[in-house]
Amino acid sequence: MLVDSYDRVVDYLRVSVTERCNFRCQYCMPEKPFSWVPKENLLTFEELFEFMKVAIDEGVKKIRITGGEPLLREDLDKFIGMIYNYEPSIDLAMTTNAYLLKSTAQKLKDAGLKRINVSIDTLKPEVAQKIAQKDVLQNVLDGVEEAREVGLKVKVNMVPMKGMNADEILDVLEYCKERDMTIRFIEYMENQYASKDISGLKSDELLKIIGERYSFKDEGFDGSSPSHYYTMDDGYRFGIIEPYEDDFCKQCNRIRLTAEGNLIPCLYFDEAMSIAESIKKGDIKGAASVLKEVVRTKPEKNRWGGEDGESSSRAFYETGG
Ligand code: SAM
Repeated sequence: MLVDSYDRVVDYLRVSVTERCNFRCQYCMPEKPFSWVPKENLLTFEELFEFMKVAIDEGVKKIRITGGEPLLREDLDKFIGMIYNYEPSIDLAMTTNAYLLKSTAQKLKDAGLKRINVSIDTLKPEVAQKIAQKDVLQNVLDGVEEAREVGLKVKVNMVPMKGMNADEILDVLEYCKERDMTIRFIEYMENQYASKDISGLKSDELLKIIGERYSFKDEGFDGSSPSHYYTMDDGYRFGIIEPYEDDFCKQCNRIRLTAEGNLIPCLYFDEAMSIAESIKKGDIKGAASVLKEVVRTKPEKNRWGGEDGESSSRAFYETGG
């Protein structure tokens, strides 16, 4: 079992398989991303899998594949199959923009994927075009329907922004509610890669809008999720990830791996250690000791909203958000 210096059990690994993305969401990426990490610097799926085995053997029980856009990486289903076949009880999930999901959902499900989180920020094609800087909406919605059809459990993430999609909070919520998919609103987190014009809605503003149509109870946190949950009278649950309000460090159980092999103890921290060299040399003990060191040095609290107001210089599209 992996336990950090503050007695938190770390059993959740988020793996970014690529920083590349087929969207250019204004809240995440610059319009023209500078140079991508060269493909030859990325760990292969075989190399990543070697580390997945180490992590599982040390006590990781949940693995989420993310990015960038994970579906841009060819043969993702094979990587998922490797993990599933090594340990079928692993809670195997993926975060995706769903653009390429229609043609891949069945393969991913067959390989052992259990759940997906999809980003849906709007139901209006022209707004989707504005946010992602590409005509994406129909593919996304078709991808979601296909995922549901093949039996993947789907949750939705939405980043509400003033003057952009704030008027669609109830529409997206109802789209999810009708399909019994949990929606989590994510408060926009300022970062140096995003467009400077964005202003996100805070949880009190969201709750006011939702409260005008529905009544709900505050349920607080559920397990180790950073999401704060609210339950409507009919039992439908929605969440808000509220870094401005909530301190979710106490229950944090996660670490992150980038596609180049940097193991990161906290999303809002620059520090990381690389497992790439040990894995490339086949030094499994070395990789395990880097893992234990990263867990040992996991900070008690993130630097979100710290003195300098800066969280981390690493982009969300590199770490997987
Ligand atoms: N491409 C995938 C997707 O679209 O879900 C996975 C990567 S994306 C970086 C993961 C999550 O990070 C998405 O739900 C996205 O909305 C969220 N995200 C990215 N930048 C953010 C920001 N500045 N504030 C809040 N959430 C953000």
